[in-house]
Amino acid sequence: MPVPREIPTVYSPESIEPHWARYWVEQKLYRPSDNPEAAGARFSLSLPPPNITGSLHMGHMLEHTEIDILMRWHRMRGANVLWLPGMDHASISTQMIVERELGREALPDLDEGPQARRAWQREGQRRRLEMGPEKFLERCWQWKEQNGDTIRRQMERMGASVDWTRSRFTMDAAYSRAVIEVFVRLYEQGLIYRGQYIVNWCPRCGTAVSDLEVAHEDRPGHLWYIRYPFEDGKGHVVVATTRPETMLGDTAVAVNPADNRYREVIGRKVVLPLLNRVIPVIGDEFVDPQFGTGAVKVTPAHDPNDFAIGMRHDLPRITVIDFEAHMTREAGPYAGLSREKAREAVVRDLTAAGLLEKTEDYKLSVSICERCKTIVEPLLSMQWFLKMQPLATPAIRAVEDDRIRIIPENSRKIYLDWMYRIHDWCISRQLWWGHRIPAWHCEACGEIVVAREAPKTCTKCPESVLRQDPDVLDTWFSSGLWPFATLGWPEQTEDLRRFYPNDLMIMGFDILFFWAARMIMLGLKFTDDVPFHELYIHALVRDAERQKMSKTKGNVIDPIEITERYGTDAVRFALASSAAPGTDIAFSDDKVQSHRNFANKIWNAARFILMNFANMTEPALRHLAAALKPVPVVGFDAVPARGSGLGSGEFGSEELRANELRTEKLLVDRWMFSRLADVTRDMNESLAKYHFHEAAYTIYHFFWHELCDWYLEWVKPEIARPAEELARKTKASPAAINLARVFEAALHLLHPFMPFITEELWHQLPRSGDARSISLTRFELVNPQATDPVSEKQFETIQELIVAARNVKAEMGLHKEKPSAQVASEDTRLLELFRAHQEPILRLAGLEAMNFVRGRLPSDASPVPLASGCDLRLFYERAPDLSAERARLEREAAKLRQQLEQADRQLGNESFRNRAPQEVVAGVERRRAELADQYQRTAESLARLGEGSGSAAQG
Ligand SMILES: [Zn+2]
Ligand SMILES: [Zn+2]
Repeated sequence: MPVPREIPTVYSPESIEPHWARYWVEQKLYRPSDNPEAAGARFSLSLPPPNITGSLHMGHMLEHTEIDILMRWHRMRGANVLWLPGMDHASISTQMIVERELGREALPDLDEGPQARRAWQREGQRRRLEMGPEKFLERCWQWKEQNGDTIRRQMERMGASVDWTRSRFTMDAAYSRAVIEVFVRLYEQGLIYRGQYIVNWCPRCGTAVSDLEVAHEDRPGHLWYIRYPFEDGKGHVVVATTRPETMLGDTAVAVNPADNRYREVIGRKVVLPLLNRVIPVIGDEFVDPQFGTGAVKVTPAHDPNDFAIGMRHDLPRITVIDFEAHMTREAGPYAGLSREKAREAVVRDLTAAGLLEKTEDYKLSVSICERCKTIVEPLLSMQWFLKMQPLATPAIRAVEDDRIRIIPENSRKIYLDWMYRIHDWCISRQLWWGHRIPAWHCEACGEIVVAREAPKTCTKCPESVLRQDPDVLDTWFSSGLWPFATLGWPEQTEDLRRFYPNDLMIMGFDILFFWAARMIMLGLKFTDDVPFHELYIHALVRDAERQKMSKTKGNVIDPIEITERYGTDAVRFALASSAAPGTDIAFSDDKVQSHRNFANKIWNAARFILMNFANMTEPALRHLAAALKPVPVVGFDAVPARGSGLGSGEFGSEELRANELRTEKLLVDRWMFSRLADVTRDMNESLAKYHFHEAAYTIYHFFWHELCDWYLEWVKPEIARPAEELARKTKASPAAINLARVFEAALHLLHPFMPFITEELWHQLPRSGDARSISLTRFELVNPQATDPVSEKQFETIQELIVAARNVKAEMGLHKEKPSAQVASEDTRLLELFRAHQEPILRLAGLEAMNFVRGRLPSDASPVPLASGCDLRLFYERAPDLSAERARLEREAAKLRQQLEQADRQLGNESFRNRAPQEVVAGVERRRAELADQYQRTAESLARLGEGSGSAAQG
């Protein structure tokens, strides 16, 4: 039997965390049970696969902490938990990183910096084209092998309780088969098509990028007003544009048909300046009469809205800018110029021709590539598309019917709004690293053959020279299959049967459309079921001033660095304690520091308890260990066991219950066990609602302010018996058993939040039998029989008395004195209660003696009235230093008044109330109420000091 050893005086997370992190992985503790019949309820979640190019940032750390808390909680409540991890191949980011590496090898002498990075990128891109796809992809795989598991190592270190044996990569062979299967089936059903379409084109990356990969930046620009003369030479129409170079591709001028100014001109023809092409004036309701002059140029090949207008009016599309952002032959005299140079030339020539009416300053929203910050060019190109309408309809219904619950409500609304306005999805990318599109082009007849494997001959002609489409799929196409492809789909695997649909998905808001919407659509399409039952959208981690963390602001907190400084447990607890649904987190070092202090508190309490246990005899320790016998997870309280789940009596919990009955319980124990039951119930309720902050606060308060401050202090003399006395005992005392049980239960409640310190301390408790991990066992926590409101009330009454006595002493500046006390009440049961607990009351209040009086004290005796209906009065040996005490209280009152005024100013500020998150306003209101209460009490003490000096001195 492991005997408690002396634990180190100082808590040092760096000496315990890596050990347990390794242990959990090596022992494969987080594989779900392989016996499907033996399991109770199941709970499954697939980790949002981080990019192989990444490393953990605070957003990941929050996401993984929230998920891990829930996984550990469900596991400890008896569910068969699968948390499936994995990585995404991150097509565009990986390709860029490998290119940059190639560039760096070719140009090793450049000094690191933005300029060098651009040069490396350019050179790397050149070298990629030189190498060809085969060699380049080899380099990508090599890079993936060497660097692709940074996140995995970091997650292991953070204690994420994932099943690494089921880890998946979006480009592993089985997963790739699922991707091809989905593509082929969608194509066969006519949902995937190829077409000329306007896409966002990044001239730097050389690929189409989705709307969601485009960032928008406000930049100063101009609005040019250009005259388009009527063909008949009678006057002109003025159009306003922010991009004059694209006029070379105009095929119409459009006005709103409801705009009275232009009613006469619809149907007339104008001459396009500079190129002298004759184009029509058309009416289209899309045109905003408020913009510019109300007449706009229409360039279907270079603007998505104009493309749509062009479709409606059957306008030709003329491409004047090419894929490298240079002007094409269609641009006539401007051919070959860059888009920037072309703009200058066009403006210059318009001015010379007298066709530029005026130029205004104009702030415009520029679309830039999220990856490389190059201005994106809307261009026409041949791409693959997925029809969204047929997939979106069931995905809308699933959320409206609450078959998928999206939390918080705000995200649900945004999801639905977006789904109702969804456009077809351009799924092809002009990249090399990724899932190659399974389509082959016949060189002879142009036929396109889509197939699961490379076809030998064309399906339309006898030709056998077939070339595979060079494009790869958008990364989000493959990650859209994540919840079912990771479980083995299209095979009907046992895992798929057991763990699909997932119970939960947690992600950040930024990928709600990129990813969640696609998973829902594709999941419903291919499995006839939702991919997950609940989708929880977590908050953003911001800095202490609620600013977004960004490299340019220099306020980025690195989770690895802060973890090394304070320990993972403290960082996790700091995150959880701020994680309220729908509210961004203001994160700071201070917050982590304060939770590091909490971990110290836990450590010190454990140290005191374990050191005293270490003085017990071998048989007494065995007795204690038997009372603590670990109970394997058996599906307690809220988790109903499905099928033939384990019965609750099977693993000795009956025996435990019997033991508990045998153990004598004093008032303090009844209070403590009742509180434990309350706290467990509250935590279960909070976690079920994703109120991580509430659950964290509940256990923090319980551990520190109830278990340590009261329970441990109360039972101290019973626990810290002299060594010679303990040496005679062959049994553990009821006090030791109760304390050990409460302490272990508290470790269980803390475990999901602070897995490392709780695992370490749990292993130090005296124990018999199997003790693999705290995370795999549980104590019977919510014991309805323990709930005892009467004992709670009685104990609170005693607490009130002790606190009041301490306060009076403090107010009198007599902390070190041991005065006597008189307690008076009409209620004899109350006096009985105090008399029965005289020893701990005197000890904890710092009193010499107490006497009891039936009735109330006269007011000239200056008694302290207590809420429970009794009066307290202290007697001192020597006169307290009243003037010093008065000065202290006055300082205190002044400080409190100042803080109160500040809170009032804040709450009176209309714009603060309107703009600050509700949580924050409520927080200030709470704080104000506390301050008012404290101020009131301080003022009363001052008043008492003024009148009552005689009474306090009379003892
Ligand atoms: Zn780019
Ligand atoms: Zn053919």
